[in-house]
Amino acid sequence: MEKQKLIIVGSGPSGFTAAIYAARAGLAPLVFEGSNPGGQLMGTSEVENFPGFPDGILGAQLMANMRTQAQKFGAKTEMKVIDRVDFDDAENLKLFSGSEEFVAESVIIATGASARWLNLGKGEEKFWGKGYTACATCDGAFFRGKTVAVIGGGDTACEEAHFLTRFADKVFQIYRGPQEKMRASLPMQQRVQDHEKIELIFNKTVTELRGEPILKSVELTDTATGETSELELDGLFMAIGHDPNTKFLGDSLELEKNYIRPVGAAGTKIPSVFVAGDVVDFRYQQAITAAGHGCQAAMDAEHYLGNKS
Ligand code: NAP
Repeated sequence: MEKQKLIIVGSGPSGFTAAIYAARAGLAPLVFEGSNPGGQLMGTSEVENFPGFPDGILGAQLMANMRTQAQKFGAKTEMKVIDRVDFDDAENLKLFSGSEEFVAESVIIATGASARWLNLGKGEEKFWGKGYTACATCDGAFFRGKTVAVIGGGDTACEEAHFLTRFADKVFQIYRGPQEKMRASLPMQQRVQDHEKIELIFNKTVTELRGEPILKSVELTDTATGETSELELDGLFMAIGHDPNTKFLGDSLELEKNYIRPVGAAGTKIPSVFVAGDVVDFRYQQAITAAGHGCQAAMDAEHYLGNKS
């Protein structure tokens, strides 16, 4: 395959926004969509907070729209997973998918992050979008007047538990360790402890999700005694961290806790490699922030290519 001007790796809001901007700038970017085209939004139901859709839009539809919009301006898409890169030569960036090799003048990495799920191996995937979710900001409003639980003892879990009190009548926060081991900062811990709607549960893990077809309760297991109990709820929110999808980069870029460390807004230590979205951002992790970052990466890539020629 001929050398590409711009390859974008990733097909979430950051990847496709970068593709729309780059395609409109005449760069005919090639987008590698990975094994889960559309990214994390494909696993959510209604998206109510993406500007421009006052009645909400299904996550899958939003991503299909972004893909169509990018293709309309000349972006090419391929459902391939990039599993290795060689960025030693900044003018000839190499990307590999199995035995296939691709070469580009510039690259945008927009591979996102994957929320950690329980992985109980008991078929809990059937509850995805039916009460089992990993994004309070996206799905919290569907639980108005309901009972929900957040799993985790870090800052995210505390923040999400607090956020969910806006909607839910009762919020349990379930942490697998004792109170003194919670990773959340002390002010965050205080915030959840002081809230009348939040009840913290310590030394418990969720070992089974129950209900048919929507989630109705979970089985809790005491981490010290092994004793089990049942907790009735309408929603279960995972907040046990995210894993950025950076393994395929090896040591070609600088990472910090596995997230790419950006240089400036969307650059890296390699002048022809740019980054966007959740693969860099452990803080906001929203479709709209990822999309905005994709725009920045595309404009920077365009600027880089323009200065070169
Ligand atoms: P985190 O700090 O890594 O916390 C993950 C939590 O999930 C821990 O309580 C951990 O328990 C628990 N956990 C992990 N695997 C589990 C499993 N399989 N089952 C049950 N529990 C599990 O992750 P985070 O809260 O997403 O935060 C990520 C980073 O972003 C942190 O540096 C955080 O400070 C930062 N952050 C900051 C803010 C803010 O400043 N406002 C907001 C959000 C996040 P153990 O402790 O037992 O391992």
